[in-house]
Amino acid sequence: MIGNKYGAHRVIEPKGVLPQPAWKIDNDVSKIYDNEILVDVLTLNIDAASFTQIKKDVGENEEKISAKILEIVNSRGKMHNPVTGSGGMLIGKIEKIGDALKGKVNIDVGDEIATLVSLSLTPLNIKKIKKVHLDNDQVDVEAKAIIFESGVYAKLPKDMDKRLALAVLDVAGAPAQTARLVNPNDTVVIIGASGKSGLLCAYAAKKYAGPTGRVIAIVHSKSKAEYLKKIGITEIFEADATDAVKVEKIVSDVTNGKMADITINVVNVPDTEMASILATKEYGTVYFFSMATSFTKAALGAEGIGKDINMIIGNGYMTNHAEIALEVVRESKEIRELFEKMYL
Ligand code: NAP
Repeated sequence: MIGNKYGAHRVIEPKGVLPQPAWKIDNDVSKIYDNEILVDVLTLNIDAASFTQIKKDVGENEEKISAKILEIVNSRGKMHNPVTGSGGMLIGKIEKIGDALKGKVNIDVGDEIATLVSLSLTPLNIKKIKKVHLDNDQVDVEAKAIIFESGVYAKLPKDMDKRLALAVLDVAGAPAQTARLVNPNDTVVIIGASGKSGLLCAYAAKKYAGPTGRVIAIVHSKSKAEYLKKIGITEIFEADATDAVKVEKIVSDVTNGKMADITINVVNVPDTEMASILATKEYGTVYFFSMATSFTKAALGAEGIGKDINMIIGNGYMTNHAEIALEVVRESKEIRELFEKMYL
């Protein structure tokens, strides 16, 4: 029984679309197709925009968050938040490899892996939620998931704790894209800089902008500025990124009106498109990694102020992104210590 390599055979509604945009997919794990992989799931990392939205909706209450996650997964067959549209990823152990994939994949039954495709397209069947970690978006579960033939995953590294790897791999695209986008001498603005991807991007931006470049960090609250100082970021400013004019003024003041070559948006709340656009110079680049980004608001907002800039959608996947992100944690003792405090 061979299914579609992208998983279209599991789409229940609407027919004809692929699993990510589908409203509902088949999460029956009692039998798998010959070109699928079955995973015994250990922990989910709910996407930060999704987890923040759920917390705002039901409150910071473990039972209510569990109920909301189960409601979503039971109705859609996947952890695809209908409000934010985002998912997350998972870690688990390979339980079964379909006959058609045996010998063709670089994993074996029993290997521990992290999926690098979104939960918003991954068939997921949850038996029980064991623990919701309110402070770090992780949820321990008794569950099974399916990886399609086209799915991307990485074996968990042996030199770090699983939870640490899960946290880093969740946002692997962000530091990897930063490394690709930032050039020596660039002025880089990071909005949401003290969050998980913010710190990884700040480290990568500092490294690739080099001694003549600048990294300007916009944080929601200065209480977390210490994290950035530890990795050598000194230009740290407090602002609510939904206040676009305030962010523009900060960046204008510190750059003498030159503004940023590249702005990286890694916040977990909506309505920060204009702050990113205003912070960026004409012909500069905005990298929208945040899942709370609205294409309409960014496109019409930039047009509305007559700004000619490149705007990049933060594709969660990039060649070798997992290795690049994990390398940041191996390279920076400060980031590793900080993440271990946050995630272990
Ligand atoms: P995170 O650790 O929760 O960090 C988010 C940061 O945004 C926090 O530092 C937070 O500051 C800050 N923030 C919140 N409201 C703000 C505001 N009004 N003004 C300024 N800063 C504000 O999140 P993460 O895990 O790094 O994820 C960051 C974003 O990437 C999320 O939107 C997530 O959905 C997205 N993401 C995208 C992909 C992709 O494939 N493109 C993959 C994974 C995640 P406080 O904590 O001080 O409020």
